Amino acid sequence: MRCPFCGHIDTQVKDSRPAEEHVSIRRRRFCPACGGRFTTYERVQLRDLVVIKSNGRREDFDRDKLERSIRIALQKRPIEPERVDQMISGIVRRLESLGETDIPSKQIGEIVMETLARIDTVAYVRFASVYKNFQAADDFDKFVSELRPDATTAEK
Ligand SMILES: [Zn+2]
Repeated sequence: MRCPFCGHIDTQVKDSRPAEEHVSIRRRRFCPACGGRFTTYERVQLRDLVVIKSNGRREDFDRDKLERSIRIALQKRPIEPERVDQMISGIVRRLESLGETDIPSKQIGEIVMETLARIDTVAYVRFASVYKNFQAADDFDKFVSELRPDATTAEK
């Protein structure tokens, strides 16, 4: 694993342990070149998912992007980070078990809303209000940038 700080390729694993109830392995890594420390997570990837936007464009599913939008919706909410990780893994597992590798972005949005609704009402409202505005445009990047706490009125 390449060091994210200096680019050195040969980093060392200092510690490995199960995380997220054994859904992933958390590894603490150390870079002997610059002394940098970082963490990686290893997860099962059942298949490569492709997101189909409403304009028909295809895009590789990006777990980080999904995670970003969910974390923004949950900002300053009293939810444990570990619970958020579990929730995101749960969503990804659901997507992977749909039996299709091509998934409409709309379906992903609905699964996220369903999950958020069970966990935190405020986060759900934040996500849903922004999501509904962007359903037509279906531009996820724009959607994520719009989904900032100061762009919502949920907590005011
Ligand atoms: Zn380094």
